[in-house]
Amino acid sequence: MMDNLISSVRSAIKEVFGDGWEVTKIDFEGPFVVLYTKNMELVANQPELIKMLAMKIHRRVVIRPDPEIMMPEDDAKELIYSKVPKSAEITDIYFFKDDGEVVIEAKNPLEVRGENDKLINEIKKNIGWLPVLHRTPPLKSKIVDDINALLRLVREERKKFLNDVAKRISRPRLSEEGEGMKRERILRLTALGGYQEVGRSAHLLMSNESKVLIECGYDVGNGALPYLNMPELLPIDSLDAVIITHAHIDHSGILPVLFKYNYDGPVYCTPPTRDMMTLLMLDFIKVNQNEGGKPLYNSEHIRKMLKNCIAINYSETTDITPDMRLTFHNAGHILGSSITHIHYGDGEYNIVFTGDFKYEKTWLFNPATNKFPRVETLVMESTYGGYKDIQPSRADASSMLTSIIKRTMERKGHILIPVFAVGRSQETMLVFNDAIKNNEMEPIDVYLDGMIYEATALHANYPEYLNSNLKVEILKNNDNPFLKPYFKMVENSAMREKIINDESPSIVLATSGMLNGGPVMEYFRNWCSDEKNTLVFVGYQAENSMGRKIQRGISEYAYMDKNGEHKTIPVKMAIETCDGFSGHSDRNQLINYVAKMEPKPRMIILSHGDPHKSHELAVTLRNKFNIEVKTPSNLETVRLL
Ligand code: ZN
Repeated sequence: MMDNLISSVRSAIKEVFGDGWEVTKIDFEGPFVVLYTKNMELVANQPELIKMLAMKIHRRVVIRPDPEIMMPEDDAKELIYSKVPKSAEITDIYFFKDDGEVVIEAKNPLEVRGENDKLINEIKKNIGWLPVLHRTPPLKSKIVDDINALLRLVREERKKFLNDVAKRISRPRLSEEGEGMKRERILRLTALGGYQEVGRSAHLLMSNESKVLIECGYDVGNGALPYLNMPELLPIDSLDAVIITHAHIDHSGILPVLFKYNYDGPVYCTPPTRDMMTLLMLDFIKVNQNEGGKPLYNSEHIRKMLKNCIAINYSETTDITPDMRLTFHNAGHILGSSITHIHYGDGEYNIVFTGDFKYEKTWLFNPATNKFPRVETLVMESTYGGYKDIQPSRADASSMLTSIIKRTMERKGHILIPVFAVGRSQETMLVFNDAIKNNEMEPIDVYLDGMIYEATALHANYPEYLNSNLKVEILKNNDNPFLKPYFKMVENSAMREKIINDESPSIVLATSGMLNGGPVMEYFRNWCSDEKNTLVFVGYQAENSMGRKIQRGISEYAYMDKNGEHKTIPVKMAIETCDGFSGHSDRNQLINYVAKMEPKPRMIILSHGDPHKSHELAVTLRNKFNIEVKTPSNLETVRLL
């Protein structure tokens, strides 16, 4: 089979380049075709021919140098330093001999590229190595360091894995085998979790050729897993691929369990989703252990998952099975979140999974993408689909937050904001940054406590995934709002204590977002009895959470101290709620997303919503757009083709 594939690639090369380009070796790595050559110059000068070749063979193409032409490492290093301007600020250069890659880590990678990639192509030509550019993380992040170290460690193992994936993707289609057999097309979607409920999202997309799981979430509130032990899904290694739309635990949290039960296939997600979900999973098992529970998986399973992650950027179309092709688009929900477009067959069917999405430009992201080449079915979240689910705009929410801060600062109080590590914390940071820049607010120390710092480092690390204004600010103007001196990480409990006892006003962003534990509790206990201080909610507070109780207004807070003694403190601090910072679309945004969608889908399937919210949205969408709208329950299957 591989021989056939190699000869078809060879003839495509001949069609595009004639006899003018010699390829010494052809390899397959997951969705990529790797071509080794002694003539890197030819392709460096004609990137459009490589694009043409990629189109012809329906694969992404990677060109690597034949080992014979690679300059000795020390000489290559010297040459790179001499050619690249100082302002690029190179921080590291290292080589991967087997792949012919040299990684250049720089603070300003755009300057290593040069205009229209001129400089990088010249370097490539001279050293005979393939330069790969990495941005030096602007904030030191342990998780990014750990992931990179691991990926370097498993590089060889990964090659074999990627080769196996390539074989699976290229296997002959079943329906093409056998003589005289009618070519039948079947495509079905099974709801395995997160339908008519929020939590444990999991969708199984099955054709007569292949089987793909989209999302693998955990319902933290109810401790529930998706229905993974269904015959449709078993044996687990019959799955071709898993796709993760974004890093939240209710969409990705149970993925390592698949590896615990011997799944060894690929996981497709964006690079920030890979990093962010690793961060959240490690925290998930830590919290689980601290609470005396038995974690559902351990760090070894997370490592296996990382080894099998194939990270794909937005808009990079990739074959994932013999009959399915995947493209991610921005979802505007959290860093790296994706609207997932799957193309089935040869133009037969297209299905879009929104995951969680925001159809409004936020401080962090552009609005979710809703323009596609083709869409037959839209599988859409309906969290805020109910008749009453209307939220204030981002602008209103921001000015409300700024005025709360100002009032508290005037009376010399502290401001405490409970937040989840990912999303809302970075968004609030940007609101402060903007207010300070526009002189609407005095510069004030903003402390980040809990996992927020790591999550912020990830945002600073992936500016390409942020909205257009931030991209210009960070990449062109070199002005990264996350690196402002007034944002400070709380490094240890001594520092926390100092902040708590400081007389001058400060803002603290701390986890957990619903005051169910975490460092936020320490601040709350110490600040709640002083009416100068303010507690501001910017995120959703679940029923039964401590946050919801405080939000409703309690006069006393009862807790158990370190010695196991019951204590009560009066709650006198101001309690405020700023709606409008949600990462989900509200009802109007959900409806607008469909209204402005191009092309209009033939069918909409609603998931990720309480039953009455899904139904209320379904009624509206049906009436407004005259489209078939389904609200299946878990374990139901919808036949698409
Ligand atoms: Zn989410």
